[in-house]
Amino acid sequence: MRSVFIAGNWKMHKTIEEAVELASALVRDLAGERRKIMIAPPYTALAAVYHVVKGTNILLGAQNMSSEAKGAHTGEVSLEMLKDAGVSVVILGHSERRHVYGESDELINRKVRRAIENDMDLILCVGETLTEREQGITTRVVESQIRAGLESIGAESFEHITIAYEPVWAIGTGKTATADDADEVHRSIRNLLAELYNDEVAAETVIQYGGSVKPANAAELMAMTNIDGLLVGGASLEAASFVKIVKYQ
Ligand code: PEP
Repeated sequence: MRSVFIAGNWKMHKTIEEAVELASALVRDLAGERRKIMIAPPYTALAAVYHVVKGTNILLGAQNMSSEAKGAHTGEVSLEMLKDAGVSVVILGHSERRHVYGESDELINRKVRRAIENDMDLILCVGETLTEREQGITTRVVESQIRAGLESIGAESFEHITIAYEPVWAIGTGKTATADDADEVHRSIRNLLAELYNDEVAAETVIQYGGSVKPANAAELMAMTNIDGLLVGGASLEAASFVKIVKYQ
């Protein structure tokens, strides 16, 4: 049985004080909520937010991580450092990392392997650009990102893996894929997991949708058979809207 998983990506927003304030409001307003919840503050606020969410129903996520273990990698943050700060889930391959910072499938796969080898849960993001959608190659693009991102990953590792389908043209733009269109891509991802692994992996893997999710569209998206969770950017920056999304009905 797949369980609902709602995650908030705060991107490059919030000072430490603002992050602690938002996390404290979420802890208060989401107390007792049984759905799986994660928030990913910026690196600078991770340790402070961990002290707020520790022992609650809210997991601490990171927005990225280095593919390397340690050493001369100026500006990078390692998995060990994230664990030390209290992180238990890392977002990998976000479209801003792919398209703005040039992360390749090969680099993302190295990060995925590092996470798996060190028992860190991860959300692998995939999604097509507007041009790719208009060219009718959405499924091909998403499938190739998944094949490459999961290269050398075995079926036994799926207890650590969530996939997020985030069409690039829907991120931060106010445009959301229709629930039917999103479900169709999610279904193709599930079929690919069955082909690459087995029916159990396909049936059990949580696939989140991301791209301009708001309180107004969360329930419609979550009503779809193959959408098991949401990865929320802008609407996770205010407690009131994120709480409404987590508690969609
Ligand atoms: C995201 O950052 O992953 C995202 C989906 O952003 P937004 O909800 O703002 O489109």
